[in-house]
Amino acid sequence: LEDVKSQSDISGESQVVLQDVLKGSQHLLQATSQYQLQVSSQKSEIDSLKLQLKEYQKQATHDALTGAFNRRAFEQELDEHLKQKCEMCLVMVDIDHFKSFNDEFGHQMGDKVLKIVAQRLEQSVETNGMIFRYGGEEFSILLPKMSLRGAYQIAEKTRKSLERLSVTDKRSGQKINSITASFGIAEFAIGEQGAQFVSRADEALYDAKNRGRNRVMPLVR
Ligand code: GH3
Ligand code: MG
Ligand code: MG
Repeated sequence: LEDVKSQSDISGESQVVLQDVLKGSQHLLQATSQYQLQVSSQKSEIDSLKLQLKEYQKQATHDALTGAFNRRAFEQELDEHLKQKCEMCLVMVDIDHFKSFNDEFGHQMGDKVLKIVAQRLEQSVETNGMIFRYGGEEFSILLPKMSLRGAYQIAEKTRKSLERLSVTDKRSGQKINSITASFGIAEFAIGEQGAQFVSRADEALYDAKNRGRNRVMPLVR
């Protein structure tokens, strides 16, 4: 339009119209580029909010110390699986004499043991199930579509892998190589409530503790 406007054979009236159209177009261009800037800054704000939301979602379902799923995630996951009414097993894991690690080596070393135990659980269970920090030094493992026999094999493999663990205290150079855990397993009985299922796995765990720890006890009914 600027080219046309500069041509000498354009009449005065057309010049005025052209001038108006030009002004309008320039305003429009300016507004569009401002709008584009706004959109791109809003897009990056949305991207960062999305990242933040992801982080909050992770915090809501994961344990900060071990990175395992937390108790809340356990309750949710258990509810979901109960609705499906299919075969599954629950393993309750409790580290043996854990308090003595804290007492002997300090709380930080206790935390280190918890982290390493959680890692080992993940490695042993692989994609067969989910690991949750149930509380303190207790973990639960949910094994969907798993028979009692299959769950026993996984728990036993995990128990042996924990037995081989050794953690070094950087301050004193002392090694902890007496980490063991006890395991209780329950197979889901159709019709039972989640709390009942958990308490049966707990019952098996107490049995494992009473029989001398560092063992897997399936609840046979
Ligand atoms: P048992 O073989 O009967 O299970 O004995 P235990 O010592 O493992 O069990 P007890 O319940 O007596 O002690 C559990 C200890 O776990 C007590 C508590 O201070 C410690 N504990 C719980 N949560 C944490 C944590 O996040 N970090 C550390 N370092 N210690 C924890
Ligand atoms: Mg305990
Ligand atoms: Mg314990």
